Amino acid sequence: MPKRCYNCNQKIEDSTLVCPNCGKNIYDENGNLNRPKVLYELGDKQSTFTSGDSNLQTNKFALAGFILSIISVFTNGLFLWLGLIFSIIGLIDCKQRNQKGKTYAIIGIVISAIYIILGIIFAALLYFAFSK
Ligand SMILES: [Zn+2]
Repeated sequence: MPKRCYNCNQKIEDSTLVCPNCGKNIYDENGNLNRPKVLYELGDKQSTFTSGDSNLQTNKFALAGFILSIISVFTNGLFLWLGLIFSIIGLIDCKQRNQKGKTYAIIGIVISAIYIILGIIFAALLYFAFSK
């Protein structure tokens, strides 16, 4: 974890005694870090931002939509519409909450959409075959 000045949040070397940016003493007279709690809190927030979205939650709707779509492929479209609806809700919810799972939602929508289109084509072919 990079050390930061408790006063101005400037990145500082481990060996630095006085902040080069604001001139505050990094250590108190006993040699302890000044306000170490604040320092580490800032450090933690910093690492949360820099580590990207690995700490973000995966959107449950998107995941549910994805799973339902996959299940539908193997079950003759059993949860097809549910999968599509969950995926769409998941995609919107992901964007609003800035969560992970957009990929799941998009795959869920694509699978559902392809399956529905194939179903419509198949139904249309059946309709024309029997209407002659
Ligand atoms: Zn400083």
